[in-house]
Amino acid sequence: MSQIENYMAVDSIEAAAETLAAGPVTVLAGGTDLMLQAEAGTRTYAPTLMNIRRVAELRGVHLQGGSIRIGALTTMTDLLTDDIVQKHCPILSQTADQFASAQIRNMATLGGNICNASPAGDMLVPLIALDAEVELVSKVDGALETRYLPLEKFFTGPGASDLRDNEILTVIDIPVPGKGARGAFRKFGPRPSLEIAIAAVAVIGRIDGGNFTDMRVAYGAVAPTPVRGRNTEAALEGKPASPETIAAALDAVEADISPIDDVRASQWYRRHLTRALTEEILNHVFTG
Ligand SMILES: Cc1cc2nc3c(=O)[nH]c(=O)nc-3n(C[C@H](O)[C@H](O)[C@H](O)COP(=O)(O)OP(=O)(O)OC[C@H]3O[C@@H](n4cnc5c(N)ncnc54)[C@H](O)[C@@H]3O)c2cc1C
Repeated sequence: MSQIENYMAVDSIEAAAETLAAGPVTVLAGGTDLMLQAEAGTRTYAPTLMNIRRVAELRGVHLQGGSIRIGALTTMTDLLTDDIVQKHCPILSQTADQFASAQIRNMATLGGNICNASPAGDMLVPLIALDAEVELVSKVDGALETRYLPLEKFFTGPGASDLRDNEILTVIDIPVPGKGARGAFRKFGPRPSLEIAIAAVAVIGRIDGGNFTDMRVAYGAVAPTPVRGRNTEAALEGKPASPETIAAALDAVEADISPIDDVRASQWYRRHLTRALTEEILNHVFTG
């Protein structure tokens, strides 16, 4: 049942931050998580529902200095077609292509995927591998404040994050990947499409002089939050791009993940899939 007393459709970041400062507020972006959770009774609305979809400043992808800045309202459809994304981090377009259906992709925003903080959120996996940071804005004592957090540190548990009640996520900031960078995202679910991942993997890096270089790995749906694969990375970094190195990296996957048994998959199966997806990316994208 709805507890909404006020509905606001703000048109600037400042107005959004001001409304949040007066709280308590529920932020509405595409609504593809929020409305379903409210319907299912797993989420209750705060007295004020604030629609941010009219905030033009939250839209668009820009190159600035050495960064790609993606507005929080950027949709999955935008990520599929944006020139900057396709040129500098095609892994995000590739991930968006595996995301839900065309109708959901038109509504679902990148900011919503992040703030929903699902361990199985698709975009979180390549974004962590890309070393993304989130920009969080609030209004304190009448002045706008901005704080930055590496995305890897943003998630604190299933459905939980470091986002404060008075903050809005405004931008996802990604360092432009270096020359020669390549990468891929793979996810697996019981159905080929419209499925929540039971394991997801993103790998980014390059081959330099025959060696794995600048390798960054992230895993989804195999721990309470999406996680960086630091042990896998260490097993790859600076080593020859060979079957022996890949075998050692796959043995290291185990130390990076902590899957559980649940209704969608056993922890054994999630471990097996994580290894298989990692192996497939390393073989076909890096050494194939
Ligand atoms: C049929 C279906 C299929 C789906 N398939 C997938 C899939 O394949 N992969 C996947 O990862 N997800 C999937 N989802 C989940 C969902 O579509 C995504 O998580 C989506 O990106 C959420 O974005 P949204 O804009 O709809 O967020 P909303 O539902 O509007 O918001 C989600 C949460 O984030 C908060 N929020 C949103 N934006 C901000 C902001 N800028 N600042 C602060 N808080 C904010 C809201 O208050 C809410 O708590 C699916 C959902 C459905 C219904």
